[in-house]
Amino acid sequence: MKKIDLHSHTYYSDGALSPAELVLRAHNMQLDALAITDHDTCLGVVEARAVQAQQARPMSIISGVELSTAWEGQDIHILGLDVNIDCPIFQQRLAQQGEARWQRAQKIAAKLQSFGMPDYLPQVQVMAGQGQITRVHFARLMYQDGSVASMQTAFNRYLAHPKRAYVDPEWISVATAVKWITEAGGIAVVAHPSRYDLKTKHLRRLLAEFVQAGGQGMEVTNASMSPSKTELMLRLADEYQLLASAGSDFHFPCRWTELGRGLQIAREVKKVSDLLLQRGALA
Ligand code: AMP
Ligand code: MN
Ligand code: MN
Ligand code: MN
Repeated sequence: MKKIDLHSHTYYSDGALSPAELVLRAHNMQLDALAITDHDTCLGVVEARAVQAQQARPMSIISGVELSTAWEGQDIHILGLDVNIDCPIFQQRLAQQGEARWQRAQKIAAKLQSFGMPDYLPQVQVMAGQGQITRVHFARLMYQDGSVASMQTAFNRYLAHPKRAYVDPEWISVATAVKWITEAGGIAVVAHPSRYDLKTKHLRRLLAEFVQAGGQGMEVTNASMSPSKTELMLRLADEYQLLASAGSDFHFPCRWTELGRGLQIAREVKKVSDLLLQRGALA
């Protein structure tokens, strides 16, 4: 059976590794395919493919993105898989998400400054470089200068909804994200549906809207998910005729998450990976 991971991050958003480091790690983990799905950018994909081209061991690099959307006051993430990263309209649209991130970053920085912290904005810009600025960049800086005891504390006390430095982002709607991904030739997949603060009834409504907009898949499992949660996700995928997807959401090396680990989908269900295979995105 092929080892496939359809959700991962590089330092072009809030991941810690460069695309090259991520690709080499994926080889060490014996992956056959890896989707790079940074928040609102595809910059890591090009570099990862260039690195892969130098490797003797075959591995498919799937072009991906994780779009930030707002749905009933919640941040909902929609993955775009096998998107055409050269599509100029798609590039423009990602730049629009970047602008929303920049506007939000300025407000977050101002709030943190009002609590006596340094102006993090210049450092955040340097850290993000060409990539997208995320709340994780702020958390890193707050931890580094001792303003908080851990990055998690930075979220728990300041950056998470609805804490003191939380700023309502200007994200697109779920339907818009699906449209952008579809128009870029990609497959839209609801990221980590079990992680949202939504009752099953609300999750059903989200999935119904997603399907109505033309969405095709949902993540059903990751390494840390309980069997009962996974079972519920499989049931919902079946109910809404969504293809099952699995990805680690790898951000940085740690004990809990690893590329390709614990992603087997136990039941015989229709999978996003089957569609990717049909489309020729998996070697
Ligand atoms: P952003 O897209 O800039 O709003 O940042 C969201 C990212 O921050 C997520 O993808 C996670 O990697 C991380 N994150 C969000 N909420 C939390 C939290 N409560 N604790 C730790 N990390 C979080
Ligand atoms: Mn993230
Ligand atoms: Mn996410
Ligand atoms: Mn992610």
